[in-house]
Amino acid sequence: MVLDNDFKQAQRRVDELITLLDHYSHEYYVLDRPTIPDSEYDKLYQELLKLEEMYPTLVQQDSPSQRVGGTLLPGFEKVEHDLPMLSLDNAFDLDGLRAFDKRVRQLVDGEVEYECELKIDGLAVSLKYENGKLIRAVTRGDGRVGENVTGNVRSIKAVPLKLKRAVTIEARGEIYMPKSSFIQLNEEREEQGEAVFANPRNAAAGTLRNLNPQVTASRNLSVFLYSIVQYGDLNVETQSDALNSLDKLGLRTNPERTVFQSIEEVWTYIEEYQNKRTSLPYEIDGIVIKVNKFDNQEQAGYTVKAPRWAIAYKFPAEEAKTTVNEIEWSVGRTGVVTPTALMDPVHLAGTTVQRASLHNVDLIKEKDIRINDTVFVRKAGDIIPEVVRVDFDSRSKETEPCQIPTQCPACQSELVHLEDEVALRCVNPKCPAQAKERLIHFVSRNAMNIDGLGEKIIIQLFEKQLVQDVSDLYRLNKEDLLTLDKIADKSAENLLNAIKNSKDNSLEKLLFGLGIKHVGAKAARLLAEEYESIENIKRASLEDIQSIEGIGEIIAESIVAFFELEAAMDLIDKLKSFGINMTYTGVKRQATINTDSYFNDKTVVITGKLEHFKRNDLKEELTLLGANVTGSISKKTDLLIAGIDAGSKLDKAKELEVSIWDEKRLLKELSE
Ligand SMILES: [Zn+2]
Repeated sequence: MVLDNDFKQAQRRVDELITLLDHYSHEYYVLDRPTIPDSEYDKLYQELLKLEEMYPTLVQQDSPSQRVGGTLLPGFEKVEHDLPMLSLDNAFDLDGLRAFDKRVRQLVDGEVEYECELKIDGLAVSLKYENGKLIRAVTRGDGRVGENVTGNVRSIKAVPLKLKRAVTIEARGEIYMPKSSFIQLNEEREEQGEAVFANPRNAAAGTLRNLNPQVTASRNLSVFLYSIVQYGDLNVETQSDALNSLDKLGLRTNPERTVFQSIEEVWTYIEEYQNKRTSLPYEIDGIVIKVNKFDNQEQAGYTVKAPRWAIAYKFPAEEAKTTVNEIEWSVGRTGVVTPTALMDPVHLAGTTVQRASLHNVDLIKEKDIRINDTVFVRKAGDIIPEVVRVDFDSRSKETEPCQIPTQCPACQSELVHLEDEVALRCVNPKCPAQAKERLIHFVSRNAMNIDGLGEKIIIQLFEKQLVQDVSDLYRLNKEDLLTLDKIADKSAENLLNAIKNSKDNSLEKLLFGLGIKHVGAKAARLLAEEYESIENIKRASLEDIQSIEGIGEIIAESIVAFFELEAAMDLIDKLKSFGINMTYTGVKRQATINTDSYFNDKTVVITGKLEHFKRNDLKEELTLLGANVTGSISKKTDLLIAGIDAGSKLDKAKELEVSIWDEKRLLKELSE
């Protein structure tokens, strides 16, 4: 038999696609280090499905279409799911959704309702509760067999160990890392010379699969549950009932869900969240659409791979193309030397981008980024610009691999590459760049909060040798300051006042300002509250420090090591001699700020008469959830809570397109 050309061509392409998809799938599932965006993977996968549909004899046993997911990692006990964790079919546009809708309506009797949910970009898990107690947490794995991560999942505070009622159920959902935690984690890792995570999903996966539950506990993962597969005695008839009963059991669900009657309404919801996605505190990569009524779901049924009653709409990847003009190397306060790509300005997801951290040498080599290369950029965690990959097709022949510096760009001392680090480091203790960065950190808002001491002034203070370490700030007088550029009488006085006022700061600000490894603002506050003076912290044992809720072994060890350093003690003595307060003067808080809350970092205004709250109580509650409650509406306002008879503020909020909630919506959100 003579094979026709089209068939032969298809055969070659199928082989090629399977090899490619296996490669990308390995990077994604096994290494947690994808090199292409999901939309690119999906495009290749769709091409494969289409060819396999046209030529069924080309379907291979090991084709990605013949298994539910990726490959398993060694290291955790493997567990078979009682019911497989299926994946969903994807849609990429309105036509795809209309085709889905048409199919559903052919299979289902009567009216169809769709329940829409945000597609959280995290790691799918199945949680099993027996008589209300969490007994097992298993990752999705290949859909049939997952990994037992119960130990780590137990450490996630958003996962209740005990439900509000003694039911036996299995619920599924997505474990994720909030954007703010992701950004903070990467900043810390970069500063410590460790490899950074590409996006919040990889950070969540890396954290969940960490063999040390302490590390998992310290990284602020969270979860949204989105389905029940074993119902116990729950009596539910729709997907929205199911989510409401999860809420009632104390399990975390995403509140942004809605039920619609038509696919056109679904589309407006999709468009709405496509616009809102960057302002959400977690990353989403699409919208999941489910037939709401369970008897309709049954009528629609399943294919081998996926339910016919649900579909995932995937947002298009937000990427832009630009050119790398220069790679800049800068020294941080711990001596880590970090490369930054300087690029032609390009518009990306709402802002203009022209700088992207390249994090470390390994990453430059791995991605082979060179000066004059055309690159694709996107925003990690919807915020931090990053170079995804080089467009090798448009690389000119003249480019050369990026030159890696061997000397510190600030002090010219030899750079070192410590064995367990990805970073290059300047280890010169007198490096002026490090001292400068330490001072910038010391005066920053969460540390000593010295207003008016910007980077330009700090650079001059070093150049004129008025300051060598942070304690020298308190030596400065007006004559010193007047020698600096653009500092007049008045501004010198203001600056001196700000420096003087910082002496009375409560202990936690100083502790954070000292820049002790691993001690962030939160750990500093916990330590200050617990020990109340720097002397007490110095005397505390490792075991004692570790016993504080929220302080792990790593932080505790770092604190003990810091107070054993002679140089650190000298600095503290010097600060003491200038009269800097070394005690805790704040009020002990009963509750701590929940940084994973919807309200975290949101600017909120309350107006009108409230039925369910006293205004001051509500203000305090929102503040503890991380909100900044202010009195007037501006462009910076994220949310208006409008009670009865809300007047001009409501009008202003509408005009500025600020989100508006009534008390009912607020109550629902607060009950999460
Ligand atoms: Zn240096």
